[in-house]
Amino acid sequence: MYKARIRKTQKIVEAEDLKVIPEVNELDFACVDKDCDIDLIPCSYGKFNKVRPYFKKNKGVEHSSNCEYSKLLKYLNIGKNRQITDDEFSRFDYPSKLIEKQKKILSTDTSTSDDLSPNTGRAMKTIMSGEFDSVMPSNKHVTSINLIIDFFISCPYNRDVYLKLLSKEGTYRHLFKSIFGESKGQYESGKIFHGVLYPNSKKSIRHEDQFVFFQLLSCERWEVDFSGKNQVNPYWVKLNKNHLSKTKLNRILEDRQTVNNQSNLDYKEKKKNKETNAYVFFLGNAPTYKEPYIFEVVDDYISFRYTQVNHPDDE
Ligand SMILES: [Zn+2]
Repeated sequence: MYKARIRKTQKIVEAEDLKVIPEVNELDFACVDKDCDIDLIPCSYGKFNKVRPYFKKNKGVEHSSNCEYSKLLKYLNIGKNRQITDDEFSRFDYPSKLIEKQKKILSTDTSTSDDLSPNTGRAMKTIMSGEFDSVMPSNKHVTSINLIIDFFISCPYNRDVYLKLLSKEGTYRHLFKSIFGESKGQYESGKIFHGVLYPNSKKSIRHEDQFVFFQLLSCERWEVDFSGKNQVNPYWVKLNKNHLSKTKLNRILEDRQTVNNQSNLDYKEKKKNKETNAYVFFLGNAPTYKEPYIFEVVDDYISFRYTQVNHPDDE
């Protein structure tokens, strides 16, 4: 499970926050839906855990039948195998709008996650299906890109639904863009880009002044010489550290390390399949004429996943 509420403070945290929250084992967690309120247990948050952190239910306990959050999880699961119907969309809130969170003063900002409480802002949900738009009475505003990425990955048959990223509107299909070596120059700022991280986790991160750079596997081309294969002009993702609290930066770095480790471990144990990779997802600005191989992360909208990204329509 991706997120939970800390009982003492009522703060919503994402599973990835667990690695940077001090003394996790002294906190009690509950379902984010206050009417459901079942206990949740934090898992796999230790420094050296290979699997991403997550929350689980106690054995034999189920979410309440009306729990908004478990409904979302249920439909994310259904969406893996088939298209979610318009009728089903009317029964749950899918993440349809990324809105800016209210800025806090950095020095007092100990929060790592964003306000992800359910039911923030219910509005009209538009499903774009072919030439007809149908309007449904629910949608979900989020202040981090995590749920949006989860929906994109989990529901590949529903990428025609409406999505708004800050001020940019479209569909999931239109607003997500994969980074490929050969598509140089075809990028448009304000979308969520995704690319495979370069597997060597030490070499592929660079700290420079106020920036961190993550190297991608995609590059202009590969050059083969006596020492092996070398990248020519690899793409880099540039993150401005000045926008981030220390905790937030730590979470991002931990997050990236975890997915890189997962990928490398599977590779070492010969369990890795070709399609599952360590990905970075970020809301970004496209490379410029001056820096043709550098994508810039907008604010702190960046997340990592060890996953497979399906494109059923391209098949
Ligand atoms: Zn629940």
